[in-house]
Amino acid sequence: MKTVVLKFGGTSVGSIDRIKKVCKIIAFYKKKKNRIVVVSSAMSGVTNDLVNKSKLISNNFDRAEYDALVSTGEQVSCALIAGRLKHNGFKSRSWTSWQLPILTDGPHSSARISSVGIKELNKYIKSGGIPIITGFQGISNDFRITTIGRSGSDATAIMLAKFIKADECIIYTDVDGVYTTDPRQYNKAKKIKKIFYDEMLEMASLGSKVMQPTSVQDAKLNKIDIKVKSSFVAKSGTLITGSKKIFSNQIITGISSTKNDAKITIVGVKDRPGVAASIFRPLSKNLINVDMVVQNISQNGKETDLTFTIKSEDLKKTERLIKKNKSISYKKLSFDKDLSKVSIIGVGMITTPGITYRMFQALALKKINILVISTSEIKISVLISSKNVKKAIAVLHKEFKLD
Ligand code: ASP
Ligand code: MG
Repeated sequence: MKTVVLKFGGTSVGSIDRIKKVCKIIAFYKKKKNRIVVVSSAMSGVTNDLVNKSKLISNNFDRAEYDALVSTGEQVSCALIAGRLKHNGFKSRSWTSWQLPILTDGPHSSARISSVGIKELNKYIKSGGIPIITGFQGISNDFRITTIGRSGSDATAIMLAKFIKADECIIYTDVDGVYTTDPRQYNKAKKIKKIFYDEMLEMASLGSKVMQPTSVQDAKLNKIDIKVKSSFVAKSGTLITGSKKIFSNQIITGISSTKNDAKITIVGVKDRPGVAASIFRPLSKNLINVDMVVQNISQNGKETDLTFTIKSEDLKKTERLIKKNKSISYKKLSFDKDLSKVSIIGVGMITTPGITYRMFQALALKKINILVISTSEIKISVLISSKNVKKAIAVLHKEFKLD
């Protein structure tokens, strides 16, 4: 008998009809004699609505009350699912986080799950019941409701899979898997059958929104295989795994891109220890996320140029912070907007030489200018003008035989 965790996202339970459909999926697994644990998000739009209400009450809404408020959507969807399953003749009940309990550490609205109480749960499953558990929420040491970050239900499912020692964790969503690149940007995008955690982490944090990056991290740390599937269409999904078995010899697994990046270059800054720290200290204090950073080698040992990227919406603020920063001196500041980062990702590049060259050459043939480059072991990113993104994805997709 297999133990399967089934997680349903907001759109999968977005209406009464969707919830009925989801119950059919649950029934399908149950009839195959599996032990099932269900985790659900709130119905789509509900959490956003609650967040907006908190803002209308106060622009400094109490963090603990925020969690008590925004976690309520999950209780609704779980009760509806359990109610429908009972209507269909199954034994089922809903569970909120404190009832299990799901314990969390860390600050309100970005807590992390530390443990899940499974005693009652196991008893219930053994008796033939289907437990429906609220995603996204937990309780702190002092018995306050916490939430684990937007889209956190994925992480709830993964941690439940860990503590209940599930054989499978299936994430049901509105897309039928992870694609080589965004199908809306490029119609030859292909579904990826299997992807490594590290590749998925890169894809997720580089703009592929199928899964929340911290939940992929949790899956990796706890070695939980995840299947991503659609609750809308019955199609095979994508397996996210650490297992090296039966992997294709594809070098590049996927291509992702970002939107709305901006680039700042500080020309002629003093080349001495501590300068980079002085530049970035105020930015970090103001929660401005710096992405790519390049420092040129200084020609004379006295001055250097520093280039970095941020999100466009932070550009004005960043400009202001640099201009009023008394601890640095420079000759000139320059700014660029409407930029995008295009990245190729794949563990295959660790063992295959020449990938960097092939990427740059492919872009060069299409006359796409590269502004900034950054690399990691399994990823190469280039910053280019946003108007060239589609072209870049198409040429790279072809170059690395993903078409
Ligand atoms: N309902 C929460 C959100 O919208 C959690 C989730 O969907 O996973 O962020
Ligand atoms: Mg959601």
